[in-house]
Amino acid sequence: MTVDIDEYRGVWVFVEQHAGEAAPVSWELLSKGRELADEMDEPLTALVMGHDVAHLADEALTRGADHALVADDEVFEPYRADPYGEQFRALVEERKPSIVLIGGTHTGRDFAGRVAVPAHAGLTADCTELDVDDEGLLLASRPTFGGDAMATIKCPSHRPQMATVRAGVFDASEPGEVDVDADAIEEVEVVVEEKDTLSEVIERVVGDVVDITDADVVVAGGAGCEGNFEPIAELAEALGGEVAASRAAVDEGWVEPARQVGQTGKTVRPHLYIAAGISGAVQHLEGMNDSDYVVAINTDSNAAIFDHADYGIVGDLHEVLPKLTAMIREK
Ligand code: FAD
Repeated sequence: MTVDIDEYRGVWVFVEQHAGEAAPVSWELLSKGRELADEMDEPLTALVMGHDVAHLADEALTRGADHALVADDEVFEPYRADPYGEQFRALVEERKPSIVLIGGTHTGRDFAGRVAVPAHAGLTADCTELDVDDEGLLLASRPTFGGDAMATIKCPSHRPQMATVRAGVFDASEPGEVDVDADAIEEVEVVVEEKDTLSEVIERVVGDVVDITDADVVVAGGAGCEGNFEPIAELAEALGGEVAASRAAVDEGWVEPARQVGQTGKTVRPHLYIAAGISGAVQHLEGMNDSDYVVAINTDSNAAIFDHADYGIVGDLHEVLPKLTAMIREK
């Protein structure tokens, strides 16, 4: 299918929400979307879908969106791919956005796949960098060949250009002190009815899902743990943080893959990142380099991680961490 790409304008960000609470990646995409929209000199629109979600449209405007489109109906709560997809298809057909950004979450990945096909759009998944060229072409970059190379993907002949983006790779936009302009929010016609949907949610069970990307404190262990993650877990608990790991530790099976930090794992940017028994390979650094403070504990004073740490302790993690934990618990 060929489209007249000149008809497509603007950047849309899909504001993913669950029971009225926005997924943090939505605000990260809004800040990146703002940059792209400014470079293109085109508007930034927040797309809010759900039930009783008007407050998220307000918030999107205070976080930098020019407009918000709101599709508010019971049919959109909880998330299901078919009503969301049908509504999105209708909106894209009518409004013709040039770029659509979606969080690379479980929901975002499901949604993006579902909507890209009927929209005949190009979709680049799991992006870690975004840019636009002079002609408004989205340059969507993502690791490829198991992380050995970065691929930059363009979709020159289709619109919209769509991308799912990894959580944690961009700074979230902050809500500003701006007055919300009611004219900038548009409640759109809901084109989906419950009777037309194919799926029904019988029960929603929220499992014990690990999400280290949201944590303020991350305590990560590496090969130096030698199979014993107890000191890592204890310190993480004392600090109210999450346990994470290098790929070496994950490959050994000491920690589940959802906790891997790095190029082929998660990107975290906590206030405090403690790296114990981790050498500081570039692929690991890529996932934690934007942390506010990094503390490294390593027996090797020449370990590369010390070059990226604010504070370093040369020592055996099995001795150092329990002492740190005890000190913190005493406080
Ligand atoms: P090592 O490099 O073996 O370092 C262990 C460190 O522990 C050493 O510095 C040692 O001095 C120290 N140590 C040993 N004993 C103690 C002790 N008792 N107390 C304190 N310190 C001690 N890696 C990732 O982490 N994340 C990724 O996403 C990732 N993706 C990759 C993608 C590709 C394509 C490739 C090729 C590699 C990737 N890697 C990734 C692997 C990466 O290159 C490193 O091999 C890995 O990060 C090393 O993990 P480590 O630091 O735990 O282990």
